[in-house]
Amino acid sequence: MTSTADVIIIGAGVQGIGLAFHLAKAGAGSIVVLEKKHVAAGPTAKSGAMIRPLFSQEIYIRLVLEATRAFEHWDHVYGGDPGFVQKGFFRITDTLDVDRLGGDLQLMQRLGVPFQRVPHNDLSLYSPSSEFRGDETGLLLTKSGYADPIKTTNSLAAAAIRCGVVIKEGVRVTGIEVCGGQVQAVTTDAGRIATKLIVNCAGAWSDRVAAMVGVTLPIAIHRIPTTLYHRPLSLRDEGPILSDGVNQVYVRASGDSFLRAAAFGWSHDPVDPDLYDETISRKQHDSLRTLVDRRCTAMRKTPSAGGFAAIYDMTPDAHPIVGPIGDVAGFWCNCGWSGNGFASGPIVGRHLAAQILHGESEIDLSPFAWPRVGDLTPRPDLAWVSR
Ligand SMILES: Cc1cc2nc3c(=O)[nH]c(=O)nc-3n(C[C@H](O)[C@H](O)[C@H](O)COP(=O)(O)OP(=O)(O)OC[C@H]3O[C@@H](n4cnc5c(N)ncnc54)[C@H](O)[C@@H]3O)c2cc1C
Repeated sequence: MTSTADVIIIGAGVQGIGLAFHLAKAGAGSIVVLEKKHVAAGPTAKSGAMIRPLFSQEIYIRLVLEATRAFEHWDHVYGGDPGFVQKGFFRITDTLDVDRLGGDLQLMQRLGVPFQRVPHNDLSLYSPSSEFRGDETGLLLTKSGYADPIKTTNSLAAAAIRCGVVIKEGVRVTGIEVCGGQVQAVTTDAGRIATKLIVNCAGAWSDRVAAMVGVTLPIAIHRIPTTLYHRPLSLRDEGPILSDGVNQVYVRASGDSFLRAAAFGWSHDPVDPDLYDETISRKQHDSLRTLVDRRCTAMRKTPSAGGFAAIYDMTPDAHPIVGPIGDVAGFWCNCGWSGNGFASGPIVGRHLAAQILHGESEIDLSPFAWPRVGDLTPRPDLAWVSR
């Protein structure tokens, strides 16, 4: 195995691979990604993969706007096909309260997010098989959509490899050597690689990686259910993602034959990321079904196609941890995305690479430093990840 590297990235999810690409593009030298399984093996593979800039914090809006442009011009920027479906994102709401909406419309407008308010009488234009209450209106984010997370990450990986990145699949990092307060090497189940710089992109396992240098990361792993349905014939013409802010559930297409649905936010269900039950319980299935049926008449007549459970790497305030951390020189983190790290995955690395190499970046990632230094407000349970 390679015996030295300028940078080692631990984890080949969308964040690790995106960073590898941008570091290579920025001329960071020899870059090795170590992945215990394979590219997009973790929660990235199960992501809802929605790309929509509905937020109340500027940093997310700017990241997702840039990511949207990257998805729109993917072949030119990275090459390949991320499976991007840009049919819009349609939020049904009974309030424009920033916390409940999960987005600050004034801020979004100022930053150039294309959206339109949909009056009550026009709601059925965007979701013909739904029923609406009299106090409900809509918000349409016209440039939003979703991608295929496995295609996206593998396409990024191919681009990274073309730029000289080495991706080692099936290699587990087992330790990190530190001497004189400086990272010296990683040890793996396939040997040792000397390096002065490590970026921990291990997602749900990133606290275990940080523990290798004596750093405690405040990340808890929680199980998240998603249900699948056969796609009703009446919903074959795909419209925008249906994001029901009143019932707190979203539904989007999943290929030609299926729809997937999940609730907003998260529920307390701590698990071990290596041992968790990836199936969905009857109770979870039924409660999601109730939420979906309440809105969408077509769904009441379509059979379930099962479902699955995935995991979120939750931080205390539901914001990620990005930047150097602890007292060990050469140890950086990009993790704890708490269920929101797909959309920006392909472009966060551009800014993080600039920060690593030059100490500053076009989008300042310092609000994501840990411990927090700025005024990043915690995301309220109901509004954050307001799909
Ligand atoms: C159900 C679900 C729906 C979601 N929907 C959305 C959405 O609509 N929009 C959005 O923006 N985000 C969404 N997210 C969140 C987003 O998918 C994640 O934040 C993102 O994929 C995390 O990527 P990552 O690269 O940080 O981590 P991961 O995908 O967890 O990758 C980490 C990798 O590190 C590897 N690894 C761990 N430990 C080691 C080790 N010791 N040695 C080597 N390798 C190691 C793992 O095998 C894994 O492959 C969703 C997530 C889930 C689960």
